[in-house]
Formats: sequence, C-alpha cells, structure tokens
Amino acid sequence: MLRFATVAELRAFLKQARSRRQSVGLVPTMGALHEGHLSLMRTAAAENDIVVATIFVNPTQFGPNEDFATYPRKLEEDACLAAEAGVTALFHPPVEEIYRPGNATWVEVTGSLTENLCGRTRPGHFRGVTTVVSRLFNIVQPDRAYFGQKDAQQVQVLKRMTQDLCFDIELRVLPIVRESDGLAMSSRNAYLSAAERQAALVLSRSLAEARCLVAAGERDTQAIVAAVTAFIQSEPLAVIDYVELVHPDDLMPRERLADAGLLALAVRIGKTRLIDNILLEVAACS
Ligand code: AMP
Repeated sequence: MLRFATVAELRAFLKQARSRRQSVGLVPTMGALHEGHLSLMRTAAAENDIVVATIFVNPTQFGPNEDFATYPRKLEEDACLAAEAGVTALFHPPVEEIYRPGNATWVEVTGSLTENLCGRTRPGHFRGVTTVVSRLFNIVQPDRAYFGQKDAQQVQVLKRMTQDLCFDIELRVLPIVRESDGLAMSSRNAYLSAAERQAALVLSRSLAEARCLVAAGERDTQAIVAAVTAFIQSEPLAVIDYVELVHPDDLMPRERLADAGLLALAVRIGKTRLIDNILLEVAACS
C-alpha cells in the first residue's frame, strides 16, 4: 500500500492510474479504523481497480466544545488495517494541505437536510463535512465513493451535494456494522467506560423496540418516538440529544409512517455522544 500526505503526490499517482484506465474507489474516514470502515474498504476493493482511503480528522466538522483534540489518532495501526482491507493508497494529509492558508471557500447544503437531526445540535457540522468531502472528491475524482448508513443524515446531505455540484461520482452506501451485542461500531466507542459500554446498548435496543412496534401495526410516528424516548430514558446513564422519525429522503417528520421511515437517535452516554438509526420499512415489518 502506498501512503501520501500531499495532494500533489496523490494526484501524480492517480494520473498514472487514470492513464491505465483503472477505476478508482474513495473511502473517506477520520481514522481509528474499525470493521465499519473496513467493510467500506473491502467493498471498494472488490468494485474498483484502485482504492484510495483517506484518514483526516477534519477540524471544520467539530464544534468548539467537541472532541477534535481528543479524537483517537492511530495512523500506524490504521495503515496496517487498511492495507489488509485492500486499500491501494492511503491519503493522510496534514490540516494545512486541505485548508490552505487564507482558505475562504465553503461548501454548504442548506435547508431541512442539514437543519434537522444532528444539524440542530451540531451547527456547522455538515458544512464541515461537505466542505471536506467536496475537496476529497476534487482531489481524487473517484468513480465511486463509499459511505456508511451509520451516518444516515450525512449520506443524504452528500447525495444532495453530489447532485447539486454535478460530481460524476457514484455514491455507494453500505449497512451499519455492529458489535455482536448490537452496539453500532464507532471510533467514539473507545471513550466508553465498562459501565457506559453496557449502557450504550440502549440505543440499538430502543431501535429494535421500534421495529417491534411497527411490526405490531403502530404507524403513528409520535407514538413510536414517545415509546423509544421512554425506553432510552429508562437507562440512567443516557441523556437524549434527539429521537426523530423522519422520511428517509427529505429527513422531514411525517405524522404517520407510510412505506418507510428513518428512526434516528443521538444519545449521550456520559460525555460520549453516540448516534444510531434504523430504516423502518412497513412492508418488511408487517
Ligand atoms: P468516520 O471515520 O466516523 O468519519 O466514518 C467514515 C465512514 O465510515 C463514514 O462513511 C461512516 O458512515 C462509516 N462508518 C462509521 N461507522 C460505521 C459502521 N458502524 N458501519 C458502517 N459504516 C460506518
């Protein structure tokens, strides 16, 4: 596996690959790799001649009181895992390589896609995400880019951005990878104490409760949200950031569940903010 820290070196490598007509898959990450990231890399390796994975803890998507400084950074371990997963080139630029001195350009998706859910409690977060991902798209110009359904809102925001900016890139969205007990894998799970790790199961379990309610015929979205909220509140270490049941495409609430709804959660367990979600499909649940 090759490693690059500068845009110029990565571009020189990709120019050669393109002259050989090799297809390119891009997997953007912030590192501290786990099976969720590795599933994206393995799939990208199966579907493309070349896989570029990026490890960049993007400062602009963190709020002032968030965990940018303490976010886990494990470049050497990550490089071994990425190589095993079939990555051809690992791009790990310093911040100044992505945000040049005097940077004054931002990419922002406006409206309900970025205002609801995480957008409400993390103002500016998605502007940081779309700004960095648009730069990575421009630098790498991949045929396909791989993202996890774990960040369901991010996926919708990036789909919008890709359409609006006419990027000729196929977005591939892969399922949430979970620990055997149901906890969605996340680099932030490393922050959890043993007691918090146990308490964190309330997220995936509350989503399973919602699936049961829908299977039993419940279609009133407020009733589903209320039941999930009460379930999470029964865990003393959990503090809800939001519980929302929205349409999976526009992320707007609906009174009743029609064919499908995205139930999305953000919950603080101690100091760690975790997210999880489930697509509730009426046909699949009935
Ligand atoms: P991150 O490093 O957290 O920015 O995540 C990089 C990519 O990995 C994003 O597309 C995430 O949605 C995806 N990802 C993170 N956790 C998981 C997971 N548990 N299952 C599947 N994809 C994930």
